[in-house]
Amino acid sequence: MKVRYSYLPQQFGNCPDLWRNLKKFVPTGDFTLGKPLLKFENKFAKLMGTKYAVGVNSGTDAIKLSLKVLNIKPGDEIITAANTFVATVGAITELNAIPVFVDCDDTFCMNVDLVEKKITKKTKAIIPVHFTGYMTNMVKLKKISKKYKIPIVEDACQSILAEINGKKSGTWSNFGAFSMHPLKNINVWSDAGMIVTSNKRIYEKLKLLRNHGLIDRDHVKICGYNSRMDTLQAVVGNWIIPKAKSIAKQRIKNAKYLDNYFSKIDGIRVPPRPKNYKIVYHLYIVFAKNRDKLLKECKKKGIEAKIHYPIPIYRQEAMKFLKHKKGDYPVTDKHCKEIISFPCDQHLTKNQLNYIIKTVKDFYS
Ligand SMILES: *Cc1c(COP(=O)(O)O)cnc(C)c1O
Repeated sequence: MKVRYSYLPQQFGNCPDLWRNLKKFVPTGDFTLGKPLLKFENKFAKLMGTKYAVGVNSGTDAIKLSLKVLNIKPGDEIITAANTFVATVGAITELNAIPVFVDCDDTFCMNVDLVEKKITKKTKAIIPVHFTGYMTNMVKLKKISKKYKIPIVEDACQSILAEINGKKSGTWSNFGAFSMHPLKNINVWSDAGMIVTSNKRIYEKLKLLRNHGLIDRDHVKICGYNSRMDTLQAVVGNWIIPKAKSIAKQRIKNAKYLDNYFSKIDGIRVPPRPKNYKIVYHLYIVFAKNRDKLLKECKKKGIEAKIHYPIPIYRQEAMKFLKHKKGDYPVTDKHCKEIISFPCDQHLTKNQLNYIIKTVKDFYS
């Protein structure tokens, strides 16, 4: 049997209704900040329960433009997670700010108990990464943010519709950054990102920043960027967004199914699943003994398991200027050796899930 990682052919292989929408849209020529984008932003804000949403060209820019609103300058320090995807850090370094890393815990998110000792006079923002579909402990992080008056920009790119205590990721601060990259839970056909906020001033500033700082055709109010979401992708977004809740639901169901069997296998450790968390499983990750051998065995058996990620961002060559060394973030380092990701998406069949379970079970017995 084959258990593929990418489900995009299934997601978009048979969608005549979307093709109809695209065919209707193209002759309108409304390609730049067009009506479908406005519609998508409204739907997105409604889904999140925020007042506003601003479509931008990527999740990376959703973070970067948020930092720009906060007036982040070269040399400012931004606290973030040591084990995130490169994009979080890229948004920081594009502004010549300095990423200051915090180790994670077994939820794969920043261990917020370690944040306070990283705060200096230069700290100008904290970017918690709601990683793999978990959420960072925002209850505690909000308290720290208030105490030190340091704003938060949430990197919610991997966690659309995740919650703690019923409150959605991306809505705990003034800036919730999302990505609709094809590999994300809610995906379009190219790059796209969204920022949600309920603050009108921030909303207006973000709209300027994404479109060259233009207030109208002839007036440039501030220095901005070309970071508009492609309206064609917004047509795709409008097609997929009504499915967002059912996609999350199916991923959660699949994860519960895998958890149930994996928790009985010696050699596999399932990460904590706190009752007040809604985890949306962008990645389904467990800790495995003999991880490298298990990965090899899975691949041999046709299961596309993966490691997210084998080398943490803090140890990548591009981060050499920060002068970190192996061991600076021990939990992140330990995870690299133990984690394995299995497919968990909404298009998997029961047979495929059972095949994953059987393959892992056979490996350890
Ligand atoms: C995908 C992702 C982003 C943004 O990615 P884009 O490809 O720019 O949309 C940011 N942070 C994390 C953690 C991500 O996984």
